[in-house]
Amino acid sequence: MADRDRGILFVISGPSGAGKGTVRKEVFRHLDGLSFSISCTTRAPRPGERDGVDYRFIPRESFLKKVESGDFLEWAEVHGNLYGTLWSDVNENLEIGKDVVLEIDVQGALQVMDKCDDLVSIFLCPPSTEELERRLRARGSEDEDTIALRLKNALGEMAEIDKYDHVVINDDLNRAVEEMERIVALYRNRDKGDLA
Ligand code: 5GP
Repeated sequence: MADRDRGILFVISGPSGAGKGTVRKEVFRHLDGLSFSISCTTRAPRPGERDGVDYRFIPRESFLKKVESGDFLEWAEVHGNLYGTLWSDVNENLEIGKDVVLEIDVQGALQVMDKCDDLVSIFLCPPSTEELERRLRARGSEDEDTIALRLKNALGEMAEIDKYDHVVINDDLNRAVEEMERIVALYRNRDKGDLA
């Protein structure tokens, strides 16, 4: 039987440029009871990003101290920067019955799959490599070398797709958001069903 007092852990993953952030923000606009786990990162904020909202921007030294103290459920080096999810962030919300959404890279998602029995993993997939490249360029925030590195990493990440519970193809934003919402509803209803 599902633990009805505890929230559900959803992990949204997939290559950068797949549109994880955009899809996740839309899902949050539509659904209540979800909590976004704000990752720590050593990368510099992009224009418009806010500390404590988009990320917790911290120096590399503080990040590594947290690694040593075992504060992270998962962490990874992504495109030369460190990113991590705090155990405290996830557990505090799950314990009060909130469903928690992690939006993380594939290396991190695989660590969470190893450590947590109970999670719902969703791979958000770009429609094609050409489209992924177009989206990475459209951001305008990365130089050519960074774009090339992100594309190379994306191909490696796509190889892990079979390990996920669900795959959502982001060929159309509204459709991808609806599919993501159906997945959330499916597990929420399943938990309710377990109570019968
Ligand atoms: P960006 O720098 O574009 O915001 O993120 C780069 C990549 O790092 C994205 O794929 C993003 O999902 C991932 N990422 C963000 N937060 C975390 C985290 O806490 N852990 C891991 N493993 N990856 C993360």
